[in-house]
Amino acid sequence: MSLSCHLLHVLQPEEADNQYEMTSYEGAQARWCPGCGDHSVLTAVQKLLTAEQLIPEQTVFVSGIGCSSRFPHYLKTYGFHGIHGRALPVSTGVKLHRPELNVFTVMGDGDCTSIGAAHWIHALRYNLDLTVLLLDNGIYGLTKKQTSPTTPQGLKTNTQPKGSFLPALNPLAVSLGVTNASFVAQTAEWAPAHLYATLRAAYRHKGTSFVRILQRCPVFTPEVFQAAVQDPARIVLLVHDDGVVTPELNRIYSSQIHHDPGDIATARRLAEADDHIHLGVFFRDQSRPRYEETRKVTPRSPNERMSRLEEEFDRYAV
Ligand code: SF4
Repeated sequence: MSLSCHLLHVLQPEEADNQYEMTSYEGAQARWCPGCGDHSVLTAVQKLLTAEQLIPEQTVFVSGIGCSSRFPHYLKTYGFHGIHGRALPVSTGVKLHRPELNVFTVMGDGDCTSIGAAHWIHALRYNLDLTVLLLDNGIYGLTKKQTSPTTPQGLKTNTQPKGSFLPALNPLAVSLGVTNASFVAQTAEWAPAHLYATLRAAYRHKGTSFVRILQRCPVFTPEVFQAAVQDPARIVLLVHDDGVVTPELNRIYSSQIHHDPGDIATARRLAEADDHIHLGVFFRDQSRPRYEETRKVTPRSPNERMSRLEEEFDRYAV
């Protein structure tokens, strides 16, 4: 399906003829490489759509360019496979024009944290009700192993064959530094229960929920998350009733911290820590203003609009 402006009547879930199943959301056959972490994310998203019974005609997935940006093709919802780095401006436009739609944004690390970085920062600040997924594999995969902002320092790539020059950009620390950001979380695609629980918390949050998903690219960066996959002791779960709780993972991930997502100072400290990988909701504040509320325009009749226009003109009468 392509994006359309023809949806005038908003269906409520109870009005829908059918209960949706996972297959209701399946689009084209995914063409990612075997073993690519994007497959896990797609499955978790389809599970979320099914659990929340989101009406496909009222759900939009917007992406930019990159391997993960093929996401909209693989879902039977509305979709917009846009241009590089511009997934968030498109999502913003859709949400402002059609606030009743469920809008998801899917980006890779090159897409979001490089060419789209300015849009990322301002979207977090605007805090529209969007669910934003950053699938971070630490490389430009589609263009065959070019250094991205999140490529680990020293990792050899086709654009920096002697090793990435700079320390990797930290998407969590950046997001937590943006004024008015309201939800920042991190999960990993190889921990499906945690991935699903995080996506659910993000979707249910009112405001822009930013989720960094650590994503394996077995073709170009197999070494990046290998140690964490093989050794769960390298991962620390942040648990809290206002964040993510996954008791089914307690035996695998025994290292856990009780972290209140309302504590921004601790969230920033945890985001900067490089001794372990922290998964969970770092920060959440649903009271932060949302752009669609602060800039809400009251509907007026043509006569009312004319009369207000005349009033404005009268102010400049001489
Ligand atoms: Fe996935 Fe990497 Fe293949 Fe792209 S190149 S589809 S990120 S495994």
